Amino acid sequence: MKTSLENLKPLMRCSVCNHKYEPVKALVLEEQEGQTTLHLTCASCGVSTMVFVSTTQFGVVSMGILTDLEGNEVRSLFGDDAISSDQVLDMHTFLKGFSGGVKEFI
Ligand SMILES: [Zn+2]
Repeated sequence: MKTSLENLKPLMRCSVCNHKYEPVKALVLEEQEGQTTLHLTCASCGVSTMVFVSTTQFGVVSMGILTDLEGNEVRSLFGDDAISSDQVLDMHTFLKGFSGGVKEFI
């Protein structure tokens, strides 16, 4: 999984200004089999985004949501201990349901 993620990071762009994210600024919050959660801060406009990456049999699916939380704040929400895959799944489902609302919010 790490290999595909490393390949993916350079392709990620800021959803606000389209600036290419610098992979070194990506904070990995959770990394589990097939699912990775990242916190990215745009070096250009400073907007932070949480990105959920799922590796499925159909390929890599990524989903971003804007956040005003700093990386370390998000990390504290996630906690130091790994959360269960069920919780990650819940988050994915939650965010999928809200994707339309997020766009309106932007
Ligand atoms: Zn930006």
